[in-house]
Amino acid sequence: MNCLHFIDEGKEIYVDSFFMKTDNEGMEKELFIKQLRQGIYLLDEAHESTGYLVIGKNKACLIDTMNGYTNLKEVVSKLTDRELLVVNTHGHPDHIFGNVFFDEVYMNPSDYELAATFTDNPEFNKAGLHFPPYKPIQEGDVLELGGRNLEIYNLPGHTRGGILLLLKEERLLFTGDSINHHLWMQLDGCPPMEELVKNLDRIMFLEKEADFILHGHARDFDDISLLPCMRQGALEIAQGKTGEDEDYHWFGGIGKQHHFKLNPDKHYSQLHSVICYRPE
Ligand SMILES: [Zn+2]
Repeated sequence: MNCLHFIDEGKEIYVDSFFMKTDNEGMEKELFIKQLRQGIYLLDEAHESTGYLVIGKNKACLIDTMNGYTNLKEVVSKLTDRELLVVNTHGHPDHIFGNVFFDEVYMNPSDYELAATFTDNPEFNKAGLHFPPYKPIQEGDVLELGGRNLEIYNLPGHTRGGILLLLKEERLLFTGDSINHHLWMQLDGCPPMEELVKNLDRIMFLEKEADFILHGHARDFDDISLLPCMRQGALEIAQGKTGEDEDYHWFGGIGKQHHFKLNPDKHYSQLHSVICYRPE
């Protein structure tokens, strides 16, 4: 059998390379696990969405549960035996459906209602799947894992209750879908672009606190300068510098997409970067 080889905290461990699950159409959904640093794992579910496992001396934290193709509780138990805290960066289905494998999950209350629009579905109950209750988490909270602390910051934009998690000691910023290369701001409930710029300005100091961003669809690190570059793109849209913007076709209709420039001296996991938005 293929195995991924991990070296974690000095001891070698082996994990089955694929936690394979088949969806309704018979497509195989693989979970790709990558060790980024000692005790920090990237969990890429079928290249659809990405979560992270951060292991401290006393506790571990799972950041997002993806689409629920994989029994993440089992996966995590192969990587750590620490007490596990589970956090959703925001209330979208591709970040929360795997909550069904856990007893409680932290989420910003501003996204409870949004999350319920996806999870309050009798089909889940029929299938024997139950979503656990949420525990509130928001700016000012700190998850103390033992030698590693995750500080929480609010960033309303992509969703009202989007949070960022700063892993202080490692200078890593987990951003969910709130900061990435393909920002969706065309959704119902997304604020006007000026408001996003203001909200970004409020947390821009994080540029000095972290070296890398790990977002909710990533396969590797992005330089922290993705944050100011994305903010610049949002500012251009707010200022109406949108003459060259193209249509953006998505399952909810047709919006616009605005390309933003990255810093040519920095390293990113991808170069194509856009903000999608609703034209006025
Ligand atoms: Zn999202």
